Amino acid sequence: MKLQDKVCIITGAASGIGKEIAMTFAREGGRIVIADVNGDAAKATAAEIKATGAAAMGIAMNVMDEDQVNAGVGEVVRAWGGVDVLVSNAGIQIIHPLEEFPFADWKRLLAIHLDGAFLTTKACLPHMYGSGRGGSVIYMGSVHSKEASPLKAAYVTAKHGLIGLAEVVAKEGAHHGVRANVICPGFVRTPLVDKQIPEQAKALGISEADVVKNVMLKDTVDGEFTTTQDVAEVALLFASFPSNALTGQSLVVSHGWFMQ
Ligand code: NAD
Repeated sequence: MKLQDKVCIITGAASGIGKEIAMTFAREGGRIVIADVNGDAAKATAAEIKATGAAAMGIAMNVMDEDQVNAGVGEVVRAWGGVDVLVSNAGIQIIHPLEEFPFADWKRLLAIHLDGAFLTTKACLPHMYGSGRGGSVIYMGSVHSKEASPLKAAYVTAKHGLIGLAEVVAKEGAHHGVRANVICPGFVRTPLVDKQIPEQAKALGISEADVVKNVMLKDTVDGEFTTTQDVAEVALLFASFPSNALTGQSLVVSHGWFMQ
């Protein structure tokens, strides 16, 4: 059990990658908080985890809203006494060519990814610092934290920004035993990606099959999607790593789409 009794808050965990991380951490003994803007889905996911015998709670939390973030983290600390792991994972995708990108969409995307990461980190750090146990902060970046794709100006900007935030948290948190790292997945078949396939086909004037083969998986070594389980394994490594030796890093898990 790599996370025995560790309190793990995972944002956006009612679906996709976040949900898989929640299930994986629960199997490793963690006490799991599903924090999601979709409160009903958060509670349903927590119930699924509890049915396996693990401890879980579902919290309605819009990560862009400071009051909701602080209230949610406060509820966790009152119930379970602290926070050991934060996975800032909630995210969306909005695609437009830059010259047509609505300012409102730009601001919304940056707010979910960057304000959300900042607010949840700010709310959790005092508890990690105060416990004497330190903690692990994990940001869900993307291959788009490292390189660009057309139509994704806001997403690429936000995902690059998370690396900067993680590096600052790594430096400020080190004296308190708090580590911060970024996971950078390639394309993973989740609702976020399923929504993009027809959108990209339309925007690029190609078929949906061509979007998958010639856009999403074109530069992988084997034409394969990354899986939610692949990403959850990396999250478990970052969550359970025992020292500051592994901090301020970003790890790409993408079937070789991006290599460095
Ligand atoms: P998903 O759509 O399956 O899940 C996202 C979850 O976030 C949903 O449960 C949604 O309700 C929640 N959410 C959205 N806005 C929120 C908000 N304001 N506050 C709280 N919760 C909110 O998506 P996913 O593919 O699992 O993506 C999760 C993360 O992984 C995102 O940050 C995404 O950018 C990143 N990512 C995904 C892929 C991919 O290919 N799927 C690749 C790289 C990175």
